[in-house]
Amino acid sequence: MPMFDFVCTSCQHAFETLVRGSAVPACPACGSVTLERQLALPAIKTSGTQAKAMQAAKRRDKAQGAERMHAQRQYELSHDD
Ligand SMILES: [Zn+2]
Repeated sequence: MPMFDFVCTSCQHAFETLVRGSAVPACPACGSVTLERQLALPAIKTSGTQAKAMQAAKRRDKAQGAERMHAQRQYELSHDD
């Protein structure tokens, strides 16, 4: 059964609940059914994490590229006679 995170738009209470079929969950704090379903990963957090991952990947690519160039240079030097 799927578990979903909700935030009550009336009282901002955040909670997690099971949703069965078309049943509408209600806020356990105030009973409101005006809820916002939260995504597993909040969009802001996700984009920040992705940006960091991209930066890390770019740094890694750059480092690997430098290493490849260094290896190529060593190869050329050792075979230059
Ligand atoms: Zn509420």
